[in-house]
Amino acid sequence: MSQARNVLVTGGNRGIGLAIAKAFVEGGDTVVVTSRGGEAPDGLRAVTCDVTDSASVDAAFTAAEELFGGPVQVLVANAGITKDGLLMRMSDADFDAVIDTNLAGTFRCVRRASTGMIKARGGRIILISSVVGLYGGPGQANYAASKAGLVGLARSVTRELGGRGITANVVAPGFIETDMTAALPEATQKTYKAGIPAGRFAQPGEVAAVVRFLASEEAGYVTGAVIPVDGGLGMGH
Ligand code: NDP
Repeated sequence: MSQARNVLVTGGNRGIGLAIAKAFVEGGDTVVVTSRGGEAPDGLRAVTCDVTDSASVDAAFTAAEELFGGPVQVLVANAGITKDGLLMRMSDADFDAVIDTNLAGTFRCVRRASTGMIKARGGRIILISSVVGLYGGPGQANYAASKAGLVGLARSVTRELGGRGITANVVAPGFIETDMTAALPEATQKTYKAGIPAGRFAQPGEVAAVVRFLASEEAGYVTGAVIPVDGGLGMGH
């Protein structure tokens, strides 16, 4: 891999994905973000992508490759949704939608990215999971299952493609200050913070720093790993 890499960040138009995209730009890499609307945040280039649709994923990668003038060298699969609800009342539609976006959507992106990476005999794949994937969460059976599934996905990719210079890792954020957590009532935020050894939520940039490390040359021997960024909430799991 050359010094400046071609980085694709799914769901990079806002929240954690945007912080990740900006961190790569600051590091001198060439970045394209995806969003469903195709809108580009300031200073970034964007392509339209709905990760629930294989044809859309393929078209987004093709468009990104044109913008890069080459293949995707670093994939950050960050796009994700929640549709929380207690188990007994969770509908098939809400279960399926979360799995289709978070797990199958990530699979579609990884599969598409792998073709260029195999040819190039190198690449970095980073999947954004959640502390909830291995910790579980009441009302989050769909979300936790989708995020835990990313661990098996990354580890299988590691076993298949590890010999070709491709690494696949999972980053598991805890509570991050985004629109999602800002919407929580203050009392709820206080209760959550009391359970986090660090005593606070994280800034999106703190997740981005770990993603950038995993994408670096120096991290070439880190693969199949789950890296928590959760202030100790999951105790390293
Ligand atoms: P946001 O809700 O702010 O952003 C979600 C992103 O995913 C958006 O860019 C959205 O695009 C994109 N997206 C959703 N559905 C699709 C789809 N079908 N196809 C393509 N893109 C899609 O989330 P956060 O920044 O908070 O979270 C980012 C990731 O981090 C998620 O995977 C989330 O599960 C995970 N995470 C978040 C935590 C937190 O505390 N915030 C904690 C742990 C993990 P669009 O604008 O088009 O809707």
